[in-house]
Amino acid sequence: MGKSIVVLNAGSSSIKFEVFDTSAEAALTRRFEGLIEGIGTAPRFVAKDPQGQVIHETSWATGQPGTNHAAALEHLVAWLDPQLDEAGLLGVGHRVVHGGLAYSEALVIDEAILNDLERFVPLAPLHQPHNLAGIRAAAAFLRGVPQVACFDTAFHRRRPPIADRFAIPDELHSEGVQRYGFHGLSYEYVAGALAEVAPEIAGGRVVVAHLGNGASMCAIRDGRAVDSTMGFTALDGLPMGTRCGAIDPGVLLYLMQEHGMDRAAIEALLYKRSGLLGISGVSNDMRELQASAEPRAALAIDYFVYRIGRELGALAATMGGLDGLIFTAGIGENAAEIRARVCRDAAWLGVELDEAANRERGPRISTAVSRTSAWVIPTDEELQIARHTLALLS
Ligand code: AMP
Repeated sequence: MGKSIVVLNAGSSSIKFEVFDTSAEAALTRRFEGLIEGIGTAPRFVAKDPQGQVIHETSWATGQPGTNHAAALEHLVAWLDPQLDEAGLLGVGHRVVHGGLAYSEALVIDEAILNDLERFVPLAPLHQPHNLAGIRAAAAFLRGVPQVACFDTAFHRRRPPIADRFAIPDELHSEGVQRYGFHGLSYEYVAGALAEVAPEIAGGRVVVAHLGNGASMCAIRDGRAVDSTMGFTALDGLPMGTRCGAIDPGVLLYLMQEHGMDRAAIEALLYKRSGLLGISGVSNDMRELQASAEPRAALAIDYFVYRIGRELGALAATMGGLDGLIFTAGIGENAAEIRARVCRDAAWLGVELDEAANRERGPRISTAVSRTSAWVIPTDEELQIARHTLALLS
């Protein structure tokens, strides 16, 4: 066994982790994955082997000292330490949602960079503070082990500048009020996987639909980002589990004027009470919506599919056409009915669905004669983070 890489994805009340071994020459090997959830209330730690078997589980009660990110990390490190051989840790790779304009590549972080990344907290209030708390905690417990930040915005930074623009005065644009795009680690992984799974379209014009609890779509030409549905924050574009997606900014002015809503109230509405949950009043979870008999649950699914089709047309237009459509993330990988509806609506773009292949999850889900091919490619953001970490540290 060689040195290990730990990948951390720290959220508000949970830290997801994966551990990779770096000894295989060509590939990183996954050794463990797990989750610490309930941070701040009643934390629970679960570690699994790569086959998904639980190999360690503990929980500790509310009110015990330090039920925060640092305590959660301490627990993880204490468990992990005896599992590693003397080669130890090569580094820790962190998912960081926002790198602004300045951070267009993954990099090894120090205290100055960490402080600089605080600038983006108002742009990603639900993710960025927790991502940074995770880095601080890991740096404190693993002194001397390099910490690498991998940004969800970075993949989009090489796209044509016009895609970054809002039609607002230049001084605001220069201040950074621009369209950034997110889910970049997922798109980068899928763009790389395309070369193996579907080499015939890897150099062409594709749209990747990352449809999970967070959802966005990205136009990619010849492996490089062209445009995406997400903008300044991770609110724009498609409706999501609880986030609104595209909304006329005039609605916000109306809510302030007529409902006296302040920033915090609007933030809670747009991030937590909208999207599939807002429309359905039932759930933010696609499986629950599909199982529900409530008409508004069906409406939420209809709206989700409708907006995907609308954005698909817009993104295809940015590339002057479409050669491939790729589905990924929780809904994209598992919800065959949603894929089928999106593909049927995309018949005008040359997509011809293969119903049987779609039920079996592809990977190719379009017929052999389909002018535009459609695919299911499972995403692996953690592996992408581990790859960046290895590339920077080896
Ligand atoms: P993610 O954020 O990528 O983990 O995706 C979470 C979303 O995927 C939730 O809305 C889940 O309901 C949805 N999902 C996962 N498995 C299925 C499935 N078999 N059918 C429909 N939706 C699913």
